[in-house]
Amino acid sequence: MYADVAVCLPLARTFVYRLNEPVEPGCRVVVPFRKREVEGFVIGFRESAPADMEVHEIGSVLDAIPLLRPDTFRLCRWIADYYVTPIGEVLKAALPPGISRKHVDGLRHSPPRRGGVDARSEAKAQTGWSNRQNVSAVLTTPALRATPPLRGGEFALTTDQGKALSTITGSPGFHPILLHGITGSGKTEVYMQAVEHFLHAGKTSLILVPEIGLTPQLNDRFAKRFPNQIAILHSSITKRQRIDEWLRIYRGEVPIVIGTRSAVFAPLANLALIVVDEEHETSYKQEDTPRYHARDTAVMRAKLAGAAVVLGSATPSMESFYNAESRKYDYMMLATRVEGRPLPAVEIVNMRDEYAAEGKQVVLSRRLLQAVSARLERGEQTMILLNRRGYAAFLLCRHCGFTFQCNSCSVGMTYHRSIEKLLCHYCGLARRPPGRCPECDSEYIHYVGEGTERLEAELKHLFPDARIGRIDRDAMRHIRDYDRVLGGFRSGDIDILAGTQMIAKGHDFPRVTLVGVIGADAPLALPDFRAAERTFQLLTQVAGRSGRGDRPGEVVIQSYFPDHYTFQLAITQRFEDFYARESRYRKAMFYPPFTALSGIMVTDRDAVRAANTAREIGEYLDSLRSNAIRVLGPAPAPLERIKRVHRQQLLIKSSSRSTLHDLLGRLRQYIEDRKLGATRVFIDVDPVSLL
Ligand code: ADP
Ligand code: ZN
Ligand code: ZN
Repeated sequence: MYADVAVCLPLARTFVYRLNEPVEPGCRVVVPFRKREVEGFVIGFRESAPADMEVHEIGSVLDAIPLLRPDTFRLCRWIADYYVTPIGEVLKAALPPGISRKHVDGLRHSPPRRGGVDARSEAKAQTGWSNRQNVSAVLTTPALRATPPLRGGEFALTTDQGKALSTITGSPGFHPILLHGITGSGKTEVYMQAVEHFLHAGKTSLILVPEIGLTPQLNDRFAKRFPNQIAILHSSITKRQRIDEWLRIYRGEVPIVIGTRSAVFAPLANLALIVVDEEHETSYKQEDTPRYHARDTAVMRAKLAGAAVVLGSATPSMESFYNAESRKYDYMMLATRVEGRPLPAVEIVNMRDEYAAEGKQVVLSRRLLQAVSARLERGEQTMILLNRRGYAAFLLCRHCGFTFQCNSCSVGMTYHRSIEKLLCHYCGLARRPPGRCPECDSEYIHYVGEGTERLEAELKHLFPDARIGRIDRDAMRHIRDYDRVLGGFRSGDIDILAGTQMIAKGHDFPRVTLVGVIGADAPLALPDFRAAERTFQLLTQVAGRSGRGDRPGEVVIQSYFPDHYTFQLAITQRFEDFYARESRYRKAMFYPPFTALSGIMVTDRDAVRAANTAREIGEYLDSLRSNAIRVLGPAPAPLERIKRVHRQQLLIKSSSRSTLHDLLGRLRQYIEDRKLGATRVFIDVDPVSLL
């Protein structure tokens, strides 16, 4: 017998080894490979070895039983194929890092019973699940309750929520649903009742969230509703905790998993429901190999598992809304806030008028200042978003125009006053701000553009009696700091909360009646076809933080381009109008979701080598060209250099996904055959960032 082995190296092809003992597909093995020993996964079998190859024996078998469930294994194969990425690396990414023989041996003594729980977990579950029916009854009775009685903290659903819930739970099998619910419309409550429904049917659920630290409320609400039934998987727990959580899931001890991106591989059996909360968030895209999109992967996992998958958002991605429009996904809308709370009134302040009136650039407009004062007088709270950390955006010599760029990256350095340093936000390089211009020796160094540090200082200066908190990556060295500031804001010890987009996410503060947005134009300037979509999403999300209690909310957005359609449509907060407007642009420019897109990034420390390889790849693609393909570039990426590495980019657009897929497969083979040495080439299917 022979086995096909995918080694955990960035190689597209698999290798054949002789087998001495029986192994199940998906088990890990150690194999000799180019004079080394490497880990790999058995992914298939064959009766005979190819005649023209020297075949070695498998060194050792690491797993007695495969750690990946059959459906997860199939999912990995799909990822490798769809994202044109090595299967060995995908399989590795699907397991918690550092899981070792020791953990595997532990598992051998308590193999999971298919579709059930083992004796140990049942003992544990008795305590955890005792607040509901007998565990075994839960797991063996597929019968559902009629109308379920309400339990603590559970709400009687609104009509729309009820419809959404019955759509999710109503039809068995694979069922993708876009749940488009405005902020505060009660999506989380729908998720929880759907989870509860499937729990009673003995089924499991997976909840994906964009970033665990940013969704503490979702976690808390789930933890309260389902005590001891949740495993959490994300990257800021220790390796050991991650392995322990993973093993609890694998053994069937917990029926609910909440986690970030890689939790899409959670070893849940009997999966009935996947929720992708805030499905539009870019953090679902893995930006290192394997470059998969966890949302789209979740849809495929649901398909393989025969489960319902709910993509929830107040601002769906263009891709998901398009899928709903073309009836690939079911579409459910929660159009009103719970208890009829109105959406906040949105107002745009033209900052060019402010400049004219004040004779200088100001951080806070008169309108926003007056609105903040009114909140302070009434004892209400304010949030102010400025999506740039640091004090000043950059330093400029007024005499010769010199700006301070990072030595290793093609970006300007940001001034941080608290530490008296210029910082590169890409590589972390720090330097002392110079007193004189290094070019012309003039003293006229000017600090341009504002960051959250400056915003906080301005607020303290303007409102000396107000209690002000700040949330950004500099102020939040630890998750504890984050909890402390948010806790202070929640309890009313903070009047004004300033911060980066970290404050825009899912929070529910009933006493916030004003949200200010500063520097709202900045993302529109990015050379990215999704700039308008990102801006619209951010504005809608942050606006959703206002007026969630019984008092109506207000939103003030400061912009130098108030006529841009993104701002005009943000006033109405009508997603459909934005979608229609943005669709016209995407169609005309052949961008997703109307065209399949892939990015090719060529990187090298040597600029000439990077450019040469990129040109060669461009020529190769030209030689394959079909009518359904358009190639743009090669050209230097917008961020031409990061950490001293030069970056050249090509974009491939195609009206036919399968044509693009074939082309990328051939390109990968070409790259592997070319043996490019130090030059690295990355293929990105459905890229999220084009910087
Ligand atoms: P979303 O997730 O869409 O932003 P949430 O689920 O957080 O909305 O709901 C907003 C608020 O309304 C929460 O405080 C939640 O507890 C409450 N809520 C949700 N559903 C109901 C309901 N059916 N009746 C009363 N309050 C509800
Ligand atoms: Zn100068
Ligand atoms: Zn740098």
